[in-house]
Amino acid sequence: MSVEQALSIIKPDGVQKNLVGEIVGRFEKAGLEIIAARMIHLSREQAEEFYTVHKERPFFDDLISYMMSGPVMVLVLQGDSAINANREIMGATNPADAEPGTIRADFAESIEENIVHGSDGPDTALQEIAFFFGDGGICPRTRQDCTKWPPARSNSNRRPHPMWPV
Ligand code: ATP
Ligand code: MG
Repeated sequence: MSVEQALSIIKPDGVQKNLVGEIVGRFEKAGLEIIAARMIHLSREQAEEFYTVHKERPFFDDLISYMMSGPVMVLVLQGDSAINANREIMGATNPADAEPGTIRADFAESIEENIVHGSDGPDTALQEIAFFFGDGGICPRTRQDCTKWPPARSNSNRRPHPMWPV
């Protein structure tokens, strides 16, 4: 096992249902550390860029409307195999298929309104964390100051992003 970071989003339905504490508690009980957190109400541009991988899918427009429908809580989780650990805590995309006791089985209404997002691999985790925290705010326990992401050695490779300050 190796220590990883994963992006988590508590989607608008999760925030609307007052589940932020419940969900964060599940992550912490599973041994994951919250090393960044931010509440944001996504613009259309941000939602479309974040889910650009799905832009040809028939549900894309509905997905964007849903993700813009209210504030979301974005988190960076850190821990052993954090990416897979988070996906297990979340449960399957469709709550009807999700294991009992997972977030989606317990709280999601439908395959679309499914409460949480989680990075699905190391590359997407890196991209997604930079998307929301490229301007700083990552606070690992071992550092004195919150830092920019990615770490300094790879800053030269960062691409400009609409959320980053100019
Ligand atoms: P996420 O990326 O949000 O963590 P996921 O990786 O489990 O979810 P994806 O296949 O990446 O699932 O789909 C992204 C999101 O698009 C889903 O979480 C859900 O909100 C929506 N979605 C996926 N499939 C469908 C579908 N068939 N109909 C409607 N919405 C869908
Ligand atoms: Mg996905």
